[in-house]
Amino acid sequence: MSTSDSGSSSRRFTLLLVHAHPDDECSGTGGLIIRCAEADHTTVLITCTNGDRGQVNGLSLRPEDSAGDRRRLAEVRQGELERASKILGLSRHYQLGYPDSGMAGWKSNKGPEVFANADLDEAAEKIARIIRECRPDVLVTYNEGGGYGHPDHIMTHRAAMAAAEAAADPSRLVGLPPWRVKKIYHTAWARSRMLRSWRWMRRLGKKTPLDDPNFDETKFGTPDEEITTRIDVRSVRRKKWRALFTHESQLGNNFFWWFFRLAGRWLFPDESFVLVRSEVSCPGRENCIFEGL
Ligand SMILES: [Zn+2]
Repeated sequence: MSTSDSGSSSRRFTLLLVHAHPDDECSGTGGLIIRCAEADHTTVLITCTNGDRGQVNGLSLRPEDSAGDRRRLAEVRQGELERASKILGLSRHYQLGYPDSGMAGWKSNKGPEVFANADLDEAAEKIARIIRECRPDVLVTYNEGGGYGHPDHIMTHRAAMAAAEAAADPSRLVGLPPWRVKKIYHTAWARSRMLRSWRWMRRLGKKTPLDDPNFDETKFGTPDEEITTRIDVRSVRRKKWRALFTHESQLGNNFFWWFFRLAGRWLFPDESFVLVRSEVSCPGRENCIFEGL
């Protein structure tokens, strides 16, 4: 982030992002990571799962049926994530390696080995140890609903929030000294922007949630008035899309992503967040995630 919009002189901070799957780091926070990296802040990513049940595009894998295909997909996604991390300019990257739970409602959600059913304390402790090691000023993860209801995103939220508590508690986790994260954010897709993009897609003849006769806009995205922080990502959008499109196994020739690549500058000029916990006083609205530090 530039000095001019940070309000925080030229100090360097550490940002930690806790995401569920390879590719999540790019779609909602890729621009933020690039801007922080370009301003010489330290950026750390934790990816909780290996993504081995992702919906595959352009590869002849059926991870829902075959353990071998799941292993292969996990390897493919690992490579994609490594390439994306380099483009984003991440300082450090940790993978917890939990098996993917699959989309909400899939039979795999019930598997005892998947991340959604992992031991919460154990997962939180893994993240808390990284927090103590990296000492982030700011933590970014999902909201209680995991953003859009994916069981791994919900578990990521629970584990990351519990980890922030554990890392700060001197009676927990012997070894590294306690560390209190100063600001915690949840990622947010502004409802107005989602609606606007669906209207555009509908004009182009594509199916969107707007086609559902029972469509209820309150079930989608975050109400704009709840958003506290908007990071302008227009200047880094090309790099963001380059990073996102390294996740080829997930995107393929999906019209949705190509549409956003072309129209993102107008439809999603910023990435938005909700500040949910802060040790420092902050204005009601900010355009820098390190505001007040
Ligand atoms: Zn995900």
